[in-house]
Amino acid sequence: MTIFSKIIAREIPADIVYEDDHVLAFRDINPQAPLHLLIIPKQEIPTINDIEEQHEVLIGKLFTAAARIAKAEGIAEDGYRVVMNCNQHGGQTVYHVHLHMLGGKPMGWPPY
Ligand code: 5GP
Repeated sequence: MTIFSKIIAREIPADIVYEDDHVLAFRDINPQAPLHLLIIPKQEIPTINDIEEQHEVLIGKLFTAAARIAKAEGIAEDGYRVVMNCNQHGGQTVYHVHLHMLGGKPMGWPPY
């Protein structure tokens, strides 16, 4: 169990911006852009490496939520970045898959 499961269970607080039966989105506690949200499945999947066929619909729902949230947050037209980090080299620190949504300023590329 990770800190994100505790957020889902409302055991610790978070600034939640979106929720449905399968997905939760909330503001990152250490934002790296003017808008930095985390979009997570309620089902605990540790890393991208653990995604299997049975998760395909659920992973798709993360992106459907991202599109809705971007419009609601007013960043859809200017644009934004979504990132999913995996394991040590990817910079993952919480082992419950999550999309980072970063917006509100132009992003650099490559991201290092
Ligand atoms: P990762 O490094 O795994 O890709 O991203 C984990 C993200 O979770 C980080 O950006 C970090 O700031 C965020 N985070 C860690 N703990 C908490 C927390 O308790 N609440 C919130 N809102 N974000 C958190």
